[in-house]
Amino acid sequence: MATLRDQLEARVAEYDRWAIRRQYGAEGPNMRRLWVLACMDERLPVDEALGIRADSPVGGGDAHLFRNAGGIVTDDAIRSAMLTINFFGTKEIIVLQHTGCGMLSANGNDLIAALKDKGIDVDKVPIDPSLPEMNLQAGAFGKWIGMMDDVDETCIKCVEYLKNHPLIPNDIVVSGWIWETEFRRLRAPTTDADARARTQYSSASMGVQGSQPPRWA
Ligand SMILES: [Zn+2]
Repeated sequence: MATLRDQLEARVAEYDRWAIRRQYGAEGPNMRRLWVLACMDERLPVDEALGIRADSPVGGGDAHLFRNAGGIVTDDAIRSAMLTINFFGTKEIIVLQHTGCGMLSANGNDLIAALKDKGIDVDKVPIDPSLPEMNLQAGAFGKWIGMMDDVDETCIKCVEYLKNHPLIPNDIVVSGWIWETEFRRLRAPTTDADARARTQYSSASMGVQGSQPPRWA
């Protein structure tokens, strides 16, 4: 049986390595070798939904967690996924979106109109001030906002984009999941009407008129 001294020495050594884990590159991955793309919504409890502890328990940390509005594939999501997968030992991607999402709650065209009412020229805004090379073409702002018509369809599309992206190797496992905010449970994305009947899965179910600017078409 190990002495307490042995156990403490092992624990201290383990913590020392954990603290400088990233300098080991692909040899110092997070615990689950996992990258999670999730909506920023405070009603989406990522750890509970996935049964993980994404970040910072000492010696642990199951995932690199990336959150944005909707949990959708964007340029910065691709940038982050590319880094963790190609250089930090990550082998799996989870896309986690949810019903009742704010990204279903309005039409992108109405958001553009609201911004224009504030005097903002949406065709002339820097989307990354530190990288002026990245600019939106005139008229693309609405698509850039990324409002959704249907969360399940968007989740499926995001998984496809990641699976087929040239910076994501073919052996990376990619899956998408929907958190039902109403029932606090996880399900696979589906377009089956009965399976999601009691949830706010679409902009129409949240009372939004018309289709979104066609980012996910
Ligand atoms: Zn959301």
